[in-house]
Amino acid sequence: MTQNLITSVFRDEVLNLSAYKVADSNSLIKLDAMENPYTWPDDIKEQWLKTIKDCPINRYPDPEAKQLAQTIKETDKIPEQCEILLGNGSDEIIQLLLMALPVDATVLAPAPGFVMYRQVAMSLGLAYHGIPLQTDSFDLDLPLMLDAIKKNQPSVIFLAYPNNPTGNLFNRQDIEKILNIAPGLVIIDEAYAPFADASFISRLPEHTNLLVMRTVSKLGLAGLRLGFIAGNKTIIKQLNKIRLPYNINSLTQITANFALKNQTLFRKQTQKICNDRTTILNQLNELPDITAYPSSANFILFKTKKNQATAIFESLKNHGILIKNLSPQGGVLCDCLRVTIGKPDENKAFINSITTIITENLNQL
Ligand SMILES: *Cc1c(COP(=O)(O)O)cnc(C)c1O
Repeated sequence: MTQNLITSVFRDEVLNLSAYKVADSNSLIKLDAMENPYTWPDDIKEQWLKTIKDCPINRYPDPEAKQLAQTIKETDKIPEQCEILLGNGSDEIIQLLLMALPVDATVLAPAPGFVMYRQVAMSLGLAYHGIPLQTDSFDLDLPLMLDAIKKNQPSVIFLAYPNNPTGNLFNRQDIEKILNIAPGLVIIDEAYAPFADASFISRLPEHTNLLVMRTVSKLGLAGLRLGFIAGNKTIIKQLNKIRLPYNINSLTQITANFALKNQTLFRKQTQKICNDRTTILNQLNELPDITAYPSSANFILFKTKKNQATAIFESLKNHGILIKNLSPQGGVLCDCLRVTIGKPDENKAFINSITTIITENLNQL
């Protein structure tokens, strides 16, 4: 009865989809979601509380979030001739970008890549192509990419820079070539810009089809849900038509505006995370049968001995540590795990536990 109702009401692509699952992290050391582990010092919290005290939450928010948009244009050095659009996280921007495409459009991205590109494309019934990266370097396979672009004529190409879950920055010249031959839009997703020291924002004026997307989530404001996309004014204008009018709530507008003006605080935190990333990379690579890959983001991808990833992941959970098991995704991610850089004591707990698991329990695995 209900089954008939459901199948008659919903599109097949929705029926065939699985919901995006977030692991339950209660009482675990949380190193699975690329969050910044640091909070704010008390004096900053006090200042922040003052700014939200008189927030008129009885009123709708500013539909254009003018003040916040102005702050972002300054802090992220958006070229003057460009415009930005804000989203409830960059996830929402991915969704509204793809919602604007024709029903027979194609979306293309390297594989492995950020799962939401595929998830959103599928939910809208769009064609999606994941183009394999090179096996060892995780760099773009340029001939394969160019071929796929020529053949499939994608309306949108997503390139995460650095890439999630591999952590590397793709070759810049390769990206420039893709920008030059792409028949549609190329979205450079710079979610990990705070840890990367590399960006395409300055290239925006050179490429009309280039859009750069960023988020405050990995910077240290994941709870606010705020992302933005920057690019050509006439393109942003189209996207703005399908954006819901009040998608950025008042508290997010005020808080993000306040926080982004405190760049020195974030810079200290992200610098610390980058330093600790080097330590963890080296420590992981000293373990037997572990290959950890260099990262320009706030996480590290590493490969275990064949068929051990899930057992190591579960053992870590028993030790009270939650990381991300990518092995079920298969392909080049077979036997791969991903750990987010946490606070020093959390990192130490992770390294101690995985060392114990690998060196002492190797036989039982
Ligand atoms: C985390 C992540 C996002 C999502 O960011 P939100 O703003 O939190 O929705 C987008 N792209 C990549 C590559 C990410 O890793």
